[in-house]
Amino acid sequence: MIGNSGARRRTLLAAAAGIAVAPFAAGPAFAAVPKVYIDPGHGGTDAGAVGNGLQEKTLTLNIALQTRDILKAGWNVDVRMSRTTDITRSLTYRTDDANAWGATIFVSIHINAGGGTGFESYRYPGTAGNTARLQSTLHSNVLSQMRSVAAVTDRGQKTANLHVLRETAMPAVLTENLFIDTVANANLLKRADFITATARGHARGIAAFLGI
Ligand SMILES: [Zn+2]
Repeated sequence: MIGNSGARRRTLLAAAAGIAVAPFAAGPAFAAVPKVYIDPGHGGTDAGAVGNGLQEKTLTLNIALQTRDILKAGWNVDVRMSRTTDITRSLTYRTDDANAWGATIFVSIHINAGGGTGFESYRYPGTAGNTARLQSTLHSNVLSQMRSVAAVTDRGQKTANLHVLRETAMPAVLTENLFIDTVANANLLKRADFITATARGHARGIAAFLGI
């Protein structure tokens, strides 16, 4: 999204007016109105992980909808989601849709399973630059907002060859927000204030990355 026509026009207008501007000094030169793609994991016939009376697809949608609302209330961004209700979406649909829309960034929200504890995030192996920066900004903001509610283990910033990270044409990060099959984690995921804090962390991390 660097060198978009809106930014170019602003610079030309400023030059015509004889003033120097550095409109994107706070961050990289993304589109004037960044396009944030939020992907709530699973949905419809795919419940994702289940445990302790919870379903991953419901939690991811709740966090994603709140992330969208907090973002739109606080910043001038366009937000598109792979789903806003409990419907089935293929992985290919999700990445094709984000690519066709021309998303600036892609954030996929998931809940972990397998008996661990805490928060971790993923980017595609070998990526650096903006993708690594999106991961670190998102990671630290989500963790800090979760920790405003309760103690949460930092499992680290990881890489994995996942479809939504590999097939997206923009910086993409996937978050794994606690373990649905660990009782202490599930008890946090059942709390409305913890879900909202998790969404706030995603929104703040996205805004910080975009420099808005
Ligand atoms: Zn998942």
